[in-house]
Amino acid sequence: MNKKKIFNKLQEIVGKDYVSDDQEELFIYSMDPGASEPRSVDFVAMPESVEQVQNIVRLANEEKIPIIPMGGGLTLSGLVIPVNSGIVLDMKRMNKILEIDETNRYAKIEAGVSAGKLFSYLEKNYPNLEVSIPDAPPSVTIAGNTLIHGSGFLSQKYGNHGDMLNGLEVVLPNGEVCRMGSCAVSDHWFTRGPIPDFIGLFTSSFGTMGVATKLSIKLYPKPKMRDLVFGIYKEPELSTQLIWNVTQTELAEDILLGVQGKPDWMAGYVFIITYITGKNQDELDKKEKKLKRIYRKNGARYMKAPPRIREVFLEKPQFAAKAADFRKGGGFEYVGSFFPLSQAPEAIKRGIEISEKYGIIPTLGARVIDRAHNVMVFFSYSFNRADSEDMQNARNALHDTNVMSLELGGIPWKGELGAQQLILERMDPNYKYLLETIRNQLDPHGIMNPGNWEVK
Ligand SMILES: Cc1cc2nc3c(=O)[nH]c(=O)nc-3n(C[C@H](O)[C@H](O)[C@H](O)COP(=O)(O)OP(=O)(O)OC[C@H]3O[C@@H](n4cnc5c(N)ncnc54)[C@H](O)[C@@H]3O)c2cc1C
Repeated sequence: MNKKKIFNKLQEIVGKDYVSDDQEELFIYSMDPGASEPRSVDFVAMPESVEQVQNIVRLANEEKIPIIPMGGGLTLSGLVIPVNSGIVLDMKRMNKILEIDETNRYAKIEAGVSAGKLFSYLEKNYPNLEVSIPDAPPSVTIAGNTLIHGSGFLSQKYGNHGDMLNGLEVVLPNGEVCRMGSCAVSDHWFTRGPIPDFIGLFTSSFGTMGVATKLSIKLYPKPKMRDLVFGIYKEPELSTQLIWNVTQTELAEDILLGVQGKPDWMAGYVFIITYITGKNQDELDKKEKKLKRIYRKNGARYMKAPPRIREVFLEKPQFAAKAADFRKGGGFEYVGSFFPLSQAPEAIKRGIEISEKYGIIPTLGARVIDRAHNVMVFFSYSFNRADSEDMQNARNALHDTNVMSLELGGIPWKGELGAQQLILERMDPNYKYLLETIRNQLDPHGIMNPGNWEVK
């Protein structure tokens, strides 16, 4: 590989200020805040337009150099750290909100638009509409999040964020632009069907199928008021019936479960937070009353949420990192797995055991997705980044969690390389065949985030 030549070409494409091979700058892209080992990066390039992305993809094909599309880089599972070096394509300059279609309730945006930007733009300009964002730092991108089947405060009601994609524009691995969803046929980016739906090929494929450049995401009516109903219980087993009964009422906007070893008063309990919305206080009071009754009938104790807890949990996005047990050196790997509701309590119990086995203060929980058709159970393992043994400890906990998830019939979410291989080991051989065939067909030179979802 002629690095000098590639660098010069990248400069021609994006301009000299937006490409780098400086070791100091590449260092930042060689790792993420999770527990993955740093890996080497050749270049970082920041395109500003679809044409620039196309030219970079064409260059990568000519030079057989990998491309790793990156949004906020905050999945924590090493998904944007190159496996075989290459060009990290940092999408943050493509950050235009292109259209808010108020009547048809969608936002058409470039792939580098952050969750914080779209959320605050809507708050200011379209106070009747909102977008579901993850409880992640606001700098994460809507594209990065929807493309990993992320979830947020409207996911209980409307599904995971991958399901909220109405349309997608991608630069395919051959450099051609392809639009998917209604925008392949019409000027309105309002739906995925009724044509063969290929958007799914790009979700949770971790940048291996192409580079998303634009997308349309669903917007929803914004309620006037929002509150939460807090409860605690001892036995994780109670969760299944409790969640089933709460979702059966259709009262919940969002449902979160949590287990935290700290502060001390929370240790040994599972807490449930059901979010309710309404037009006025009276409506909220009625909903709260109903939910209190359900909590009690299902063995949970209703608690008036302490003001600090209300404040933290009503914030959008919640600063979820506050719940993590940051140790000196401040690292944490936050992973999750999708489970059927029936398996979620056992996953929580085993997650606590895994944390204890590795001497990590239990910090885990769950978000109910789409009326409990799916429960995303998350496990947070903190470590001291300056202590390599401690980091290995977190990785071992992570591995045990992935194995446990698959044993229980769940599927690790936004899985790091190890998790991807564990999933592939169990995957129906014909599904694997399909995956490999489509990928080889689309990307014969293997330039798109190679190493991820690698069928061996
Ligand atoms: C404190 C904390 C709390 C969190 N809470 C939540 C939560 O509540 N819900 C949730 O869902 N997640 C959560 N996360 C996880 C994660 O931060 C988010 O899911 C985040 O939105 C991922 O977006 P990103 O822009 O950082 O993606 P990235 O890490 O940049 O990318 C994710 C994947 O998408 C690919 N990708 C990115 N952009 C493109 C593109 N343009 N084209 C093709 N592929 C692309 C990348 O290659 C990578 O494989 C949390 C993380 C932290 C640190």
